[in-house]
Amino acid sequence: MHLCEDVFSFKIYFTALLTLFVSFILLGVFLNQSASAKQPDIRKKPLSSVMDDETLHRFLHEIPKVDLHRHLEGDIKPKVFMEIARKHNVKLPADTVEGIKPYIQMTDKDGHSLLKFLKKFDMVKKVFVNKKAISKIAYEYLRNCSEDNIKYVELRFSPFYMASAYNLDKSKDVIEGVIDGVKRGKKDFDIDVRLIFIIERQMGPDKGAVVEDLLEKYRDHDAVALDLANDEAHYPPGPYAGVYQKAKRAGLKATAHAGEAAGPDNVKVSILDLEVDRIGHGVTTYKDKNVEKLVKDRRIPLEMCPTSNLQTGVVKTLADHPLKRYYDEGIIVTINTDDPAISGIDLTHEYFICTKQFGFTIEDIEKLIENSINSAFLSAKDKNKLRKKIFRELRKVEKKYNLL
Ligand SMILES: [Zn+2]
Repeated sequence: MHLCEDVFSFKIYFTALLTLFVSFILLGVFLNQSASAKQPDIRKKPLSSVMDDETLHRFLHEIPKVDLHRHLEGDIKPKVFMEIARKHNVKLPADTVEGIKPYIQMTDKDGHSLLKFLKKFDMVKKVFVNKKAISKIAYEYLRNCSEDNIKYVELRFSPFYMASAYNLDKSKDVIEGVIDGVKRGKKDFDIDVRLIFIIERQMGPDKGAVVEDLLEKYRDHDAVALDLANDEAHYPPGPYAGVYQKAKRAGLKATAHAGEAAGPDNVKVSILDLEVDRIGHGVTTYKDKNVEKLVKDRRIPLEMCPTSNLQTGVVKTLADHPLKRYYDEGIIVTINTDDPAISGIDLTHEYFICTKQFGFTIEDIEKLIENSINSAFLSAKDKNKLRKKIFRELRKVEKKYNLL
């Protein structure tokens, strides 16, 4: 009798336990399902609809980023500018950081003006005093990038422009000054760097060929590509085809500012005759359907810099910017800064305004970062390494913000 009662109560006890166990399992499956059903939803929603502005800005700051179009000459913060100027007794129209700002940074008063934007560079060049000053400027550039969580940057500069104010040696003072600053910066900051040498288009192809020679000379110091910059409207790219093709034959890379202050024809010539791997800006590409198709079919990445385009009057408002149009069409779009100190912005700011304006989701942000990695002037092996590092860090930040 006792035995039967024992067996009976054991059965009840066992059944209750089993029911409880199964319920837990079912609850787990249900919660898991609702979580995974929720996640794709979050990942497909505009980020500006799932977090407030402050959180969105913080998130975009924290994610690891890549900047492919960032001029050294345009990334000297007013504080560093004054520090160097004071040290070398450079004569300036103001003697405080606040006082010098309007001379080296765009202000609301400047409106949207290419002339006013370019005028800042007349003042900027006063601090390219010697090799040591240039080394410091390059070092501070990497600090600026690192503070914005940029893990890879392509530092571009013009050896001729930087040598011009004090008649410096383009190799020993300018290029080796930059290389020295980059070497020190790479030790102190978690960032990888490649160098792009700029030909100023008003210089003519002879001086352009000098820049190309310098690029070949310093290729073992991570100098990887040519760029063509400045007055695009008056100096079309065509005459530089020979210089560019020489660089390409030597196994170097190439980009050129085109379709920024002039029409899509410059984009076409840069692709067909200069054989560029990327286009700087390319904003006006859409004005010629055939050129737009050329950019798409040849998979030429566009280095887009929205705030710079607003400040120089290339577009009137951000809503007018074709970045999203190109992105939707499947053109390889990347987001960059151009001249962050002159514009008074950083890369986070550019991602922020685009995310707000164009309704980018986390999937879009990932795609844009991936575009930058794929478009970098790196070997396939180095790209893979960078991709792994960036996405490992990106996932951590996404997890922190409940976006995974
Ligand atoms: Zn530029």
